[in-house]
Amino acid sequence: MNHPGRIQPDIIADDIESPKGWRSFAAHLFAPIKITWGQFFDLLVPLRHSPHIRRHAASVIISRIQLVAALFAVMVPLWSIIDWFVFPWPQWAQMTALRLASGAIFLLLAWPWTMGKTRIQADAMLMVMLLVPPVFYLLSIVITADLQVTGTALLVTKMYALMPNIVLAGLAIFPLTAFEVALFSAPAFIFAVAGLIMGGEALSLDQHGPMLWLMVLVMGVAMFSGMSQLHYITALVNRAMIDPLTGAYTRRSGGEALDLQYRLAAMKNTPMAVAFFDLDKFKSINDTYGHDEGDKALRGLADKLREGLRRGDVLVRWGGEEFVAILTETGADGAKILLERLRQSGFGLRPDGTPMTASIGVAERNADNVSDWPQLIELADQRMYEAKRGGRDRAVLPGGVVLKFGDRDIF
Ligand code: GH3
Ligand code: MG
Ligand code: MG
Repeated sequence: MNHPGRIQPDIIADDIESPKGWRSFAAHLFAPIKITWGQFFDLLVPLRHSPHIRRHAASVIISRIQLVAALFAVMVPLWSIIDWFVFPWPQWAQMTALRLASGAIFLLLAWPWTMGKTRIQADAMLMVMLLVPPVFYLLSIVITADLQVTGTALLVTKMYALMPNIVLAGLAIFPLTAFEVALFSAPAFIFAVAGLIMGGEALSLDQHGPMLWLMVLVMGVAMFSGMSQLHYITALVNRAMIDPLTGAYTRRSGGEALDLQYRLAAMKNTPMAVAFFDLDKFKSINDTYGHDEGDKALRGLADKLREGLRRGDVLVRWGGEEFVAILTETGADGAKILLERLRQSGFGLRPDGTPMTASIGVAERNADNVSDWPQLIELADQRMYEAKRGGRDRAVLPGGVVLKFGDRDIF
């Protein structure tokens, strides 16, 4: 899970300062969407991507692999016709066998299996797809090694030598970070050099430098293409998932996060709590000071909540001025400590300078013995109403524990 404070919609990202020269450079590179240093870092290495971005990128990668693999599953065996004309027996038969085997692998990759589309699957499928052409190339060298190739046959074998370059160019259609493009390019470079050695050529910079240089250039273009695609995916996903006013998850994406976290907690049998916040007398801010002041107060509250939550916790804007904090690996006691701390740093100020208060309901997977996350939310919501009825500015926790903030009494 991403840190709750790190999820930044583009609207908020615009406010983050970065050097002017860099901004102008990046603005051209990734126009029309602006980019921050943090976002740029996420395009270089896949270390901090949120599960949503990971899943969307995986799904795009797998769809494209299937498309390309379907095309190759037909094209690669078809090309045998040319081999029949240019190679003698038994080489043409060996080449055909090689083509059929490659075609079969592409067919397996293109097959519409019903599967989860995880990032690991996407990476594994990509690696397999990228390995087929270079392996094909090396085996074709072995097959044609004893042939004195001339004319068209020479042309065809020379074209096989372009396989590693084709692989690098093909990388450009996937939304990958720069690091991943470099990683997935490595086999192409290794196979290209291995191919030269197997072809009996002595490696020399004069002879092979230009080819390697071209490969580096193609990889560079693939990197840029991969990063910009990833950037667009990230921007689109964030726009759909993150509430632009507060930077918290929207209810829809919050539901997905709850589902995921609940399943993880159930699988590992770890505690998991949710805290349901509803601001007290919020409507009067709108009525007295206007909607803009109300919006400002909501932003202030979201900032305060994010500051107080831990890495791994998720903040969701559940409704107008209602927020849900998903507290991973947190039991009822842990939630109590967190709420104490949150209340101490406050929920922001009302326009008249007085502190905002909230009524909070907490539910926990083990303590409340629930069987799914909607039940957890339902209980937390009910307890929030209990807190309202009890006089507001308090939290109701599992087991009827009431945390009364005003005079710091704990019943
Ligand atoms: P209490 O919860 O203590 O019972 O009183 P309340 O005044 O907070 O009542 P309630 O929770 O029902 O009020 C919700 C109000 O939140 C209604 C609406 O005007 C306001 N609100 C909801 N969404 C937004 C928003 O995006 N911006 C602003 N400014 N106000 C919003
Ligand atoms: Mg409300
Ligand atoms: Mg309210």
